[in-house]
Amino acid sequence: MTADANHSPSPNAGHGHDHDHDHAHSTLGEMDLRVRALETLLTQKGYLDPAAVDRIIETYEVHVGPHNGAKVVARAWAEPAFRDWLLQDATAAIASMDYTGRQGEHMVAVPNTPDTHNMVVCTLCSCYPWPVLGLPPVWYKSAAYRSRAVIEPRAVLADFGVTLPEGQNIRVWDSTAEVRYLVLPERPAGTEGWSQEQLATLVTRDAMIGTGLALNPQVKEVAA
Ligand code: FE
Repeated sequence: MTADANHSPSPNAGHGHDHDHDHAHSTLGEMDLRVRALETLLTQKGYLDPAAVDRIIETYEVHVGPHNGAKVVARAWAEPAFRDWLLQDATAAIASMDYTGRQGEHMVAVPNTPDTHNMVVCTLCSCYPWPVLGLPPVWYKSAAYRSRAVIEPRAVLADFGVTLPEGQNIRVWDSTAEVRYLVLPERPAGTEGWSQEQLATLVTRDAMIGTGLALNPQVKEVAA
């Protein structure tokens, strides 16, 4: 997929459906039906190998996901030299951990500080750093998030249950056709001496999008 294709307006999924008809309704949604029809057609014409499609889906469902990004964040918390590298050249620092691939070719890490909270959106569509976060959640692609994140980020954060300290600014990063952002959350207090594996358990997907914060270690212990 090219960057341009990635930014094409999405087809209008809805259509009037009040005509008389007697065919049985499928349990599949319209988008699923479209995808299946397209896959069948491309397979029949020999353009597509279904096994390859399954491999790609498995890759992003199982092997790639927020657990990758969590390891990057935990390492940045634990190793100041890695943190510096991540902030200077996120693409290279992340690639050094073998998290590479589509939608991760141009990474930028933005660190939360007591003064500034970062939040990521793609106002045009759904650009997202796949190698470190996997596939985007449905809400990330919604028109409501894409517009409100820019207009009223504090209200969006409230919807996610996040209240920032007064005086902490919010900086919203709009993904472009090329650049993908990873929020580096603040390391929670009370995690001194934690291993990177332990630290990674505090790093949620939403914390790396900026619609959440890293988990509080005490709360996590109670929940465990
Ligand atoms: Fe996009």
